Amino acid sequence: MALLDIIVEGDPRLRQKANKIRRVDPALRKLAADMYETMLDAPGVGLAAPQVGVMLRLITVEVPEDYDKEGDPAANLILINPEIVKATGTQLDPPEGCLSIPHWIGNVPRAERVVVKARDLDFKEVRIRAVGFLARVLQHEIDHLDGILFTDRVVDKSTLQYLPPKTDGQATSAEVAK
Ligand code: ZN
Repeated sequence: MALLDIIVEGDPRLRQKANKIRRVDPALRKLAADMYETMLDAPGVGLAAPQVGVMLRLITVEVPEDYDKEGDPAANLILINPEIVKATGTQLDPPEGCLSIPHWIGNVPRAERVVVKARDLDFKEVRIRAVGFLARVLQHEIDHLDGILFTDRVVDKSTLQYLPPKTDGQATSAEVAK
């Protein structure tokens, strides 16, 4: 496995629509494994292939148990061609960040619950029912596949906040990077 370079805002690839995946081959499995490792190393809770410059509809997600609220389940996902087939309710917290827009966070309205249809690494169809923080992460990553960044969806751009990096280079705990 290898760490991949994460591209940042200003790179036109972050604004392009990613292509549907037709089959799983060894190269795709390697990409998924490398993305997962890159996401954990960043560290982040989600990563979409366009963020590593690959225009394919592939996302990785790893949310630890109780990440945002007590009782939130853990999730470890690699999803091919994910799409939201149902979205209900609304949520505004916690603030979102993005590995491709380092050090900025903002409040983004999202659906509280989503059902995501996707394929797994065996190319079998799966359905993920998600609520709260995991639902937020999935919506954020699926947006990346359509060239949409969280800053497009903040209620008001003046509410975006800059969190300066700490001198030791560690992300602040308030930063929720995806
Ligand atoms: Zn992001």
